[in-house]
Amino acid sequence: MRTIPLLILLLSACLNLTTSNRVIADDAKSKAPTKLKGLLITGGCCHDYENQKRIITEGLSQRLSISWDIVHEGGSGKDHKVSVYQKEGWAKDYDIIVHNECFGGVTDDEFVKSVAAAHYGGTPGVFIHCALHSYRNSTKGADSWREAIGLTSVRHDKAKLSLDVVNQAPENPIMKAFPEKWETPNGELYQIDKIWENCTPLATAYSAENERDMVVIWSNKFGGTKMFGTSLGHHNETMNTDVWLDVVSRGVLWATNHLQENGKPEKGYEGTGVKPIVFGPIEAEPDPKFEKKN
Ligand SMILES: [Zn+2]
Repeated sequence: MRTIPLLILLLSACLNLTTSNRVIADDAKSKAPTKLKGLLITGGCCHDYENQKRIITEGLSQRLSISWDIVHEGGSGKDHKVSVYQKEGWAKDYDIIVHNECFGGVTDDEFVKSVAAAHYGGTPGVFIHCALHSYRNSTKGADSWREAIGLTSVRHDKAKLSLDVVNQAPENPIMKAFPEKWETPNGELYQIDKIWENCTPLATAYSAENERDMVVIWSNKFGGTKMFGTSLGHHNETMNTDVWLDVVSRGVLWATNHLQENGKPEKGYEGTGVKPIVFGPIEAEPDPKFEKKN
């Protein structure tokens, strides 16, 4: 007789356990930690980095599982030395460093060499647009930075215009979903003077000013570290497109070894879901103060 109530008690305990386990599992799912930790370095001359840091971090988080630290420094100057680069082991806590900075005036060779060295055999990197022209005034350091990128460029075509970007590697997982030809909304074409030995060109655009194709999307290996880059990204309207954000996301996944052959993120590395990134109203600059003189 005594075994029946005990059985009911045990069954009831099991049911409770199952229910509470499910609650914990659901809770864990909703608060699942992001898989990758990214550092975005941005700031400097000539571009709208305030909005670009939103496009990059929000756009990439929608497409892959990543959380961000952002270092935005240097105002609109060209010769700022990013503070975080001067901290010992600054790159070690991150899975990927995204460079969207524009500091062409820095001349400190040892500083520039140390930034490149942090990637060598270490943390993967992504180089966007003016990152290519950064540190070009460092006569002895610039080449270590360029070797990390995979390309050398010191100038751009004068015209600002839509570019026809041609997919040169449609079988590459980074480029499988990229159009055969992509007409960018707007563009500033970087002239490429050298393709370094371990660089793989992935897409090109034709320079009418130079009468030759320029690499605009590529991958690179630097001391075994995987690097990805695109010189496209002067204009927000080019950056804030599915094509641009998709290919840069695949670049990040490839560089961190989480891109599948079919061009999709490895299971568990999916993002939060693609939706438009809408900027708030642009705040008008205040008029210069009028001081009434008696
Ligand atoms: Zn630019």
